[in-house]
Amino acid sequence: MAIRGDWFYEESESWPGQAFGIRIKKILYEGKTMFQEVLVFESTDYGNVLVLDGVVQATERDEFAYQEMITHLAMMSHQNPQKVLVVGGGDGGCVREVLKHKSVQRVDLVEIDRTVIDLSLKYLPEMSKYLNGYESENQESKNDPRVHVHICDGFKYLAEHTDQYDIIISDTSDPDGPAEQLFGKNYFQLLNQALTSQGVIAMQASENIWLRLDILKSLQETCSEVFPVVNYASTCVPTYTSGQLGLLLCAKDKNTNLKQPQKSWEDVKLNNASNKYYNEKIHASSFVLPTFVKRFISN
Ligand code: SAM
Repeated sequence: MAIRGDWFYEESESWPGQAFGIRIKKILYEGKTMFQEVLVFESTDYGNVLVLDGVVQATERDEFAYQEMITHLAMMSHQNPQKVLVVGGGDGGCVREVLKHKSVQRVDLVEIDRTVIDLSLKYLPEMSKYLNGYESENQESKNDPRVHVHICDGFKYLAEHTDQYDIIISDTSDPDGPAEQLFGKNYFQLLNQALTSQGVIAMQASENIWLRLDILKSLQETCSEVFPVVNYASTCVPTYTSGQLGLLLCAKDKNTNLKQPQKSWEDVKLNNASNKYYNEKIHASSFVLPTFVKRFISN
């Protein structure tokens, strides 16, 4: 990570030879928790920006393209998602999207670093609004009693919760730092065990098609050792490395079709809930692979 003059640059050996810059208007918070380095700044053109260990996690301007896709690709592939788990997701964006579905009775958020929630409540209010009041005795949100927040390691939480969730969204930071063990076979097995029989998982695959296709290939192969259905979808987020982000969707039941919405948005939405990015056509098209990717990823 580098701040030079009034620019923030996302630089990493994981994406050699390139860097992404966002112009800073004002630094809002800079610190180190027991898990990671945290930076929050107001940008000139992308609203407030959350950065963890030098990697952009969310900006107010384009976050919806990620939150809607990682959430609704999974939720729309399940006939009746009632209990949902979000691992990571301390900015609150996925929880906001899950609550748009009238079938949802409960969503558990498991975030290891409370500082991320506290800073998101302060600087990313449109994302974190349903985490408000999470410190209450039963961790219920003030804005929606369906939300329950747990401050703990997702790996540990999953080991203690089997056969409980219809949907699990693994919205964690990249596989170094606190999320290091959240991209291996043991983690995928815990995710599978935590699912109910028709359960579906959506994971931020942390790699994209322009950088390390070999890593994506082995990630999909490892997932396929655990899940009978594993599909790769894309979303377009300008402030994520190379502007494209991969999502891995996995199903516990071999007959689950992840690549087409299994119901219409009109049938699932709570009140007048709407989306700025997700729609039924983009659901299907997000699983279509460019030719150069097909040698590595199978859909
Ligand atoms: N959308 C972002 C992305 O695609 O990279 C992720 C956003 S969210 C802020 C990532 C969250 O995962 C962080 O708040 C981080 O603290 C949390 N996290 C990392 N490792 C974790 C673990 N082992 N258990 C629970 N949460 C974890």
